[in-house]
Amino acid sequence: MATDPYGVLGVPRDASADEIKSAFRKLARQYHPDVNPNDPTAEDKFKEVSAAYEILSDPQKRARYDQFGVTDDQQGGGPGGDFFQDVGVGDIFEAFFGGMGGQRRRTNGVDGEDVRAEVVLQLKDVLQSSERKFTYRRNAKCSTCGGNGARPGTQPVTCGTCQGQGVVGRVQQTILGSIRTQTTCPTCQGTGRSIPDPCPTCRARGREAVTAELTVTIPAGIEEGTTLRVGGKGSDGIGMGRPGDLYVTVHVAEDSRFEREGRDLFASLDLTFAQAAIGDTVTIEGLTGPVELSVEAGTQPGATKRVKGEGVPKLNGGPRGDLVVEFGVLVPKRLSAEEADLLREFARKRGEPVPEGPSGGGFLGGLFGKKKK
Ligand SMILES: [Zn+2]
Ligand SMILES: [Zn+2]
Repeated sequence: MATDPYGVLGVPRDASADEIKSAFRKLARQYHPDVNPNDPTAEDKFKEVSAAYEILSDPQKRARYDQFGVTDDQQGGGPGGDFFQDVGVGDIFEAFFGGMGGQRRRTNGVDGEDVRAEVVLQLKDVLQSSERKFTYRRNAKCSTCGGNGARPGTQPVTCGTCQGQGVVGRVQQTILGSIRTQTTCPTCQGTGRSIPDPCPTCRARGREAVTAELTVTIPAGIEEGTTLRVGGKGSDGIGMGRPGDLYVTVHVAEDSRFEREGRDLFASLDLTFAQAAIGDTVTIEGLTGPVELSVEAGTQPGATKRVKGEGVPKLNGGPRGDLVVEFGVLVPKRLSAEEADLLREFARKRGEPVPEGPSGGGFLGGLFGKKKK
């Protein structure tokens, strides 16, 4: 008695074609011999799953199975029979999952490589989008031979192994129809040509390293380290191959005045003791020019002031963030005798202990005592 194909695939008897296909793919992945190289039962299971799919994916065979419990194929032998030994499981797997290699195969050519470049901006450059011209190295079609790799006056000839196709393949009949499997031609590496008299500049490679120049538009608000992709500006391909892409990494130079955090800029400003105590209006250097800053009376060290709209925009523009200024308070390093007397007078007026200086006095004033916890 033949195995129930619905049971093998784990689908209900009224499963749709999509459900059957999806169940098959899942099981085929699980039991494929390439995935289970040392497990002979996996191959048997794979054949069983494939045989079940062969029946259920074909409306006529499925109807016949539903009606009679068998199909023509199964009447001839065991489930699946010798069929799969002829076809080869690898081909079926490739037909379904697009091959295992992941290589970019291309008739008559090899794709060019991706290339990297870097540009450096100043912080103020991120305020608006800007055009930036720069140079970078790429492989371009050889200027001597025009990219065909042959000495000028000579011509490449068609590769005898692949007849110019760049790939070698075979066609096989399987349950899924006729399947063509291809690999890159080992003789010409996919170019489809062979070069009897090589170009002296590129030695038949068809390309040479050049310095290219390009202008890119850099969006406003770009962050340090952002990479922009410029399609097709990498290295030229060989033959009919496509050019690679260019990846431009944008660096935003450190600005000694500002720390950047998203849209906001952070800076610090030291006030004198008198400025901090009395308050003041000061002018600081913003990113785009002078910025007037009001210092409140009694500003403490570490206090901050936020100036709206003096930061930077977010990526692709929009309103600018803020400038946040953190205040420090300077203690004067040297005082004249007169200045010291003024400060003592100040302390006296406020009812504070009156300092005598590090070597002055000699009596126990209010400032002397145990270290404060
Ligand atoms: Zn050349
Ligand atoms: Zn070839």
